[in-house]
Amino acid sequence: MNKKTLKDIDVKGKKVLVRVDFNVPMKDGKVTDDTRIGAALPTINYLINEDAKVILMSHLGRPKGEVKEEFRLDSVAQVLSDKLEKTIIKTDTTVGEEPEKAVANMEAGDVLLLENTRFNAGEKSNDAEFAKELAKLADVYVNDAFGATHRAHASTEGITHHVEESAMGFLIQNELDVMGKAVKSPDRPFVAIIGGAKVSDKIAVIESLLEKADSLIIGGGMANTFIAAQGHPTGDSLVETDKIDLAKELMEKAGDKILLPTDVVVADDFAADANNKVVAVDGIEDGWQALDIGPDAIAKFEAVLKEAKTVVWNGPMGVFEMDAFAKGTNQVAQVLADLDAMTIIGGGDSAAAVNKAGLDGKMTHISTGGGASLQFFEGKPLPAVESLSDR
Ligand code: ADP
Ligand code: MG
Repeated sequence: MNKKTLKDIDVKGKKVLVRVDFNVPMKDGKVTDDTRIGAALPTINYLINEDAKVILMSHLGRPKGEVKEEFRLDSVAQVLSDKLEKTIIKTDTTVGEEPEKAVANMEAGDVLLLENTRFNAGEKSNDAEFAKELAKLADVYVNDAFGATHRAHASTEGITHHVEESAMGFLIQNELDVMGKAVKSPDRPFVAIIGGAKVSDKIAVIESLLEKADSLIIGGGMANTFIAAQGHPTGDSLVETDKIDLAKELMEKAGDKILLPTDVVVADDFAADANNKVVAVDGIEDGWQALDIGPDAIAKFEAVLKEAKTVVWNGPMGVFEMDAFAKGTNQVAQVLADLDAMTIIGGGDSAAAVNKAGLDGKMTHISTGGGASLQFFEGKPLPAVESLSDR
């Protein structure tokens, strides 16, 4: 990587503005999952130990450029304070007089959290004036919000043009190291598993991973479009009819590199308590829809995965939110957990499924950025990384 990392820059005693990803799930004003806050701690603790003045900023939710009380970062600040066992200075605005004064009063080792960046319309439009206002608060800029690196926003990309020096934090560095190893020099066999709802979301990643992987397993809702492309009836299953030709092309190009489910769990309704049964892929009747991969498919996928030395997984194998259709996803997760291989989980729902199965500790890497990891595996540049200072 030719981009500066945290250890490449001098932060001693400096005002360091850090973009973190504190876009955490909230319910009734409380943080319900603090994984992302925990993931930012290595960078924050390093800066505290280096006597920097640590100024943090993040977006939360979609307040659409306006101040919305439910998207304030106060409870995030509280969680962070508990984790660091340290008082956090929290400002009620993102830029302007209040934060400027607060920053001027900071001492070495202090931590300050600015208000939600998306309370400002200039954040998402990557407005240069807003980026300059942010840059005014800092001597150097560090980006550690991996989950936002695929977006060129003022706090992720724009700001880099208005500070003298910028670098990536430890979280981004680790994400890029691990995932970069998988795509650039994977131990083989390298197996990619792609699932989730729609083919259209994942065309680019399928095409990119087909070139790199030895096998590509396809499951989830998107497999239905491939089943249709094989010429089978699909009943009420989720199928993207405008992508059937593309699925045919991909199958022709990839030959036996692509593995599709041989059987599926069908239901007579999209509901947790619907009647369900296992049928072969050519046996989906009218009035039924495929909501999970079947036991034969699981066994066939498992046989391929058992040989793998590198596995990248993006997208669940079924509607895992409903227990009746979670088996394919859970079994695949269990197979990965038991492997002696590099296992990488990208994709927000896939990560949630692995967490729900309690297998997160058994994977080599679970990416903190769904969209960002997808874009990375598509082989496309991440604008908020590209704009950081070169080494
Ligand atoms: P990720 O966030 O891991 O990238 P996606 O967002 O692409 O995954 O897809 C996840 C969603 O796909 C889940 O909500 C899941 O219920 C849905 N899904 C999986 N299989 C099916 C299916 N057979 N029919 C309909 N929806 C499905
Ligand atoms: Mg998703």
